[in-house]
Amino acid sequence: MVHQTATHICDVYQPRNPKASAYYKCVENHFEDLELAWDDMYASRYGFWRTYIMTVIYKFLDCGDLHMGFARVRCEECGHEYLLAFSCKRRQFCPSCHQKRVIEYGEWLLTNVLQDVPHRQWVFSIPKRLRIYFLFDRKLLAKLSICAWKVIKTYLKSTVPDNSAVPGASIAVQTYGDFLNFNPHLHAIVSDGCFSKDGDFHMAPGFFLEDLEEIFQYEVLKMLKKEGKITADIIENMLSWRHSGFNVYIGDRIFSDDKADLGKLARYIIRACFSQERMVYIPAEASDDATAKVVYTSKDRKFRKTFNALDWLARLVTHIPGRYEQTVRYYGYYSNKSRGMRKKAETDDDIPAVIPNEMSSKESRQNWARLIQKIYEVDPLICPKCWGQMHIISFIEELDIIEKILRHLGLWDIRNHDPPQPVTSDYIPDLLYDFSDSQIPAADYWN
Ligand SMILES: [Zn+2]
Ligand SMILES: [Zn+2]
Repeated sequence: MVHQTATHICDVYQPRNPKASAYYKCVENHFEDLELAWDDMYASRYGFWRTYIMTVIYKFLDCGDLHMGFARVRCEECGHEYLLAFSCKRRQFCPSCHQKRVIEYGEWLLTNVLQDVPHRQWVFSIPKRLRIYFLFDRKLLAKLSICAWKVIKTYLKSTVPDNSAVPGASIAVQTYGDFLNFNPHLHAIVSDGCFSKDGDFHMAPGFFLEDLEEIFQYEVLKMLKKEGKITADIIENMLSWRHSGFNVYIGDRIFSDDKADLGKLARYIIRACFSQERMVYIPAEASDDATAKVVYTSKDRKFRKTFNALDWLARLVTHIPGRYEQTVRYYGYYSNKSRGMRKKAETDDDIPAVIPNEMSSKESRQNWARLIQKIYEVDPLICPKCWGQMHIISFIEELDIIEKILRHLGLWDIRNHDPPQPVTSDYIPDLLYDFSDSQIPAADYWN
């Protein structure tokens, strides 16, 4: 059977070799130096070395590598079979896994959180002077998110007659500017008005951004003072600035039937901190001064900067969220608690709604297949030979069995860190997805 597998191995996937990318080479060539050099070169600027970073890097280097284990997928009808490598599922650092998360998140937010009312994007940013506190103490990022929520709530509640009505918001922390500089700011998707207990939705009137900036400034300074980061003197000094450096931006109204724009916005709020397409890696041997470099182009493609490769990686790792660090939070009508209560109420009414928190493994696989399909435009669970339904028949994780199967298929010698092989048509480094460490609150899937 295994022999048959070898001749049948899926020919529908474009062989995608993650190890051939410029980004992969850059990480592979410099990650050890980065750890060694950190204390001397970067600790004063970016804070202490977080050991979790190394975990993320190692996982990324193995992402999509069949040697690290895989699932066997087989067609029930014709017996066609292929292997699917495991993925690392790390946020930000692994472009491929992050991108899957972004797509999954966009779908989930539209289906499970946002109600059929108009929304707007809100963006909150803070002065340069204060950014360093958030870099050295990442717990403050959660508190920054709460400051923004207070502004949203205070403002939108003040515009409606019903005192018990609340807005709903999903607020995402982003720590990165265009060139991976540390610039903590918030992107929020906010209902454009408030929900009453009776189910009515009260639309908000227009905005005066200056008013909002003032409340935001007040909330952030109060929070930082309470946390012991700044003194009353610093606050007084900052209040005397002509331009406070606090900024609130509110985008155009997006109506609920405009799913495309809403989806785009949902994906944007957890976007990746950099784009592989806009980076060029120049290894030391190809560089005119024998120093490896990264040339990076800005999002609007108007600016280009050249970095020492090690400096660029040092910036990049400051944007890796901690292992359990949440970057998106839900407030008001969209809080986990409110959503839970509404779901429960629905169940009591005996509406046969599909409640996602009891997702079976079969459902989650189907879901995963759908997501993969969106990215690769192929469905890994549809047989490329007969279009029959394919199933995951086993997960292979024992090293000796991995080796046995890969040797049999002639895939063993395609080593981890070799340059891309000229013949890779049998190598299918696709990614297996799960929800274990995603932006989606666990309760929505597993409780
Ligand atoms: Zn088949
Ligand atoms: Zn990955």
